[in-house]
Amino acid sequence: MFEPDIEKMSLSDIRELQRERLAKMVKYSYENVPMYKKRFDDAGISPDSIKSLDDVSKIPFAVKDDLRQHYPYGILAVPLERIVRLHASSGTTGKPTVVTYTQKDMDTWNRLMARSYAAAGVTSGDIVQNAYGYGLFTGGLGFHYGAELLGAMVIPTSTGNTKKQLMMLKDMQSTVLACTPSYALYLTEAAANEGYDPLNDFNLKVGMFGAEPWSDEVRKRIQEGLGIRAHDVFGMSELYGPGVAIECTEQNGLHIWSDEFLVETIDPETGEVLPEGERGELVFTMLTREAMPLLRYRTRDLAVVNYEECGCGRCHPRIMRIRGRSDDMLIVGGVNVFPSQIEHVLMNIDGVGDQYLIVVDRAILDVLQVRVEVAPDFFKSADYDAARFAKLMESELQAVLTIRARVELMEPGALPRSEGKAQRVLDLRKQ
Ligand code: AMP
Ligand code: ZN
Repeated sequence: MFEPDIEKMSLSDIRELQRERLAKMVKYSYENVPMYKKRFDDAGISPDSIKSLDDVSKIPFAVKDDLRQHYPYGILAVPLERIVRLHASSGTTGKPTVVTYTQKDMDTWNRLMARSYAAAGVTSGDIVQNAYGYGLFTGGLGFHYGAELLGAMVIPTSTGNTKKQLMMLKDMQSTVLACTPSYALYLTEAAANEGYDPLNDFNLKVGMFGAEPWSDEVRKRIQEGLGIRAHDVFGMSELYGPGVAIECTEQNGLHIWSDEFLVETIDPETGEVLPEGERGELVFTMLTREAMPLLRYRTRDLAVVNYEECGCGRCHPRIMRIRGRSDDMLIVGGVNVFPSQIEHVLMNIDGVGDQYLIVVDRAILDVLQVRVEVAPDFFKSADYDAARFAKLMESELQAVLTIRARVELMEPGALPRSEGKAQRVLDLRKQ
């Protein structure tokens, strides 16, 4: 463990620390951020109203739009000259969401990342090939400095240039690969196409994969293809970046570093706090953020949080796989489905390739349209019968998800590959 004193805390000690920090953070935000002062005053509450952890539910939610409205410098609680770093999230529409950090925030973020690497079994002896994008996106620099703090060696390849990535994996004998799961999947495929045998040519042990939802089937493909243990890393730029939650070597949910984050699960429709163990939208309160405090920030990410002690000895609660974002949910024939569920069904079918694309062209979908690549070996085999294969997928989607689907088969290599976050939904309405 990187910080055993914190990582080994019991749940009751974690809660006590959270309670102390929450009270301080509420007071700090009220006194230093006019937006919070106004919200508290309007809601008829004061920092003194927040005494227990449950009192957090009295605080009004913060949302992404709050950050947009405070563009460019966000909800600053310190003078600009104390800011040492700025990142921005890749908003697909309108202005990006800008986030800022003091030196103390940077130190906290780097510690969380170092802890996350260590929890995944990475040590100072490892060689980390970091293929997350360096730049405004928090992935590149977050994974970079965390690895350095741990004492590992970092190769900052950044995204893209796949042939060179493969060459570096072999020549440098990198032991850790950090990138999005979709890029890891693509690297697996590209390795074969370029004549590498990952299990013999590469020396990879651990994958640090995050920034987008991925299914267990994709995990299996990456683990088998690269011969590694693939760990899920969760984060978002508003909450420093990556390193908010990490899957330990038990690979049984992602520990939320709860000395820094207080998590709640809410009903996304009503905003009601849900009982422990129910699936809902994750809401985060940052407990020590200096530059840009966020109280009850609605993430739109849907998941279940588990509060049981983990086999690794950590009691920091675990996010059981993130199903997707409420804004990515599709309604097909009246049924709510997430791209990750569709992925789960497709990738369980033998002969399905690694890539698929959901096509949306009308607000109300009665039939799901999905383009699916056929696995190269199956595509070449004598058993391959396109019409029958498409029918099989359609009936699996219907059987498991109860949605009607129209599957369009694609040749291997026909769909676009991603180097960062994969685009799994093609929304023709936006074109
Ligand atoms: P960004 O601020 O650009 O880093 O994007 C943050 C968003 O990426 C989160 O709100 C999630 O929707 C998504 N995300 C990040 N990590 C994961 C993960 N491990 N699993 C699923 N979604 C993730
Ligand atoms: Zn664990």
